[in-house]
Amino acid sequence: MSSESSITSRAEESSDDENVRVRTEETGRGRGRGRRRGVRGGVRGVRGTRGSGRGRGRSRGSRTQGPTRDVLALEEVNRRTDVLQEEISQMESEELKQLCLKMAEKHPSLVHDILRPAPQQGGYHPQPGGASPDWCVCGKCREMPTNTEKVCCRKERCVTLLPDFAVLILDEAVLALGRIYRRDVLVFDDDADWNKANRHQGYRQYVLWTHGRLGAGDRRVIPSCCVWQIRDKYPDPFGQYTGFVPGRLG
Ligand SMILES: [Zn+2]
Ligand SMILES: [Zn+2]
Repeated sequence: MSSESSITSRAEESSDDENVRVRTEETGRGRGRGRRRGVRGGVRGVRGTRGSGRGRGRSRGSRTQGPTRDVLALEEVNRRTDVLQEEISQMESEELKQLCLKMAEKHPSLVHDILRPAPQQGGYHPQPGGASPDWCVCGKCREMPTNTEKVCCRKERCVTLLPDFAVLILDEAVLALGRIYRRDVLVFDDDADWNKANRHQGYRQYVLWTHGRLGAGDRRVIPSCCVWQIRDKYPDPFGQYTGFVPGRLG
């Protein structure tokens, strides 16, 4: 099957890739690769996330009782990044060098990706900001290479804007925990490519979050908006993505 886009997945065995970084214009802040604007400003609020509406797990009475659990979780994730960035910004050059050497040892593909970002050549990775396709309702989907993959979350407020999406599907610490569980408990191989491993774990977690555990051969197409969010955050440098792979039984 061609390498391309969309995705699907079973809850415990992977499938494919996708994207994202928290489009912080909407969720209040973004975490791009590398640096972020206003890092030193301390912990910032997650503007725009309150009352985000129809999210799963939204706390009852949220409108009158302050930030909901999902918003607090996202704030904590963002705070963690702020603390790390502040710490790094105060390091001396030798300390920074040692840090980079350790990172290169633990996550060589990540460091390689940062040092030598491949120009987008070929492949298929439409960038955010373009017009959404006519089959999209939420306004966040991007074109997909096959009809099967042309699936929208069908929410007026896209699911990718929910704080839970940023925390459960995109945050690398959450993904790392899922990967450890899968590797050490379920004994599946973890991909050596950092971005690819996180992409596929993001797909799995999206399916688990949305559908629960699926039986063997039961695979669901992940909405385009979600796929590209995951792929934006954990991209393949050549835009080579595994598209939806139908289940063995279906
Ligand atoms: Zn859509
Ligand atoms: Zn959507």
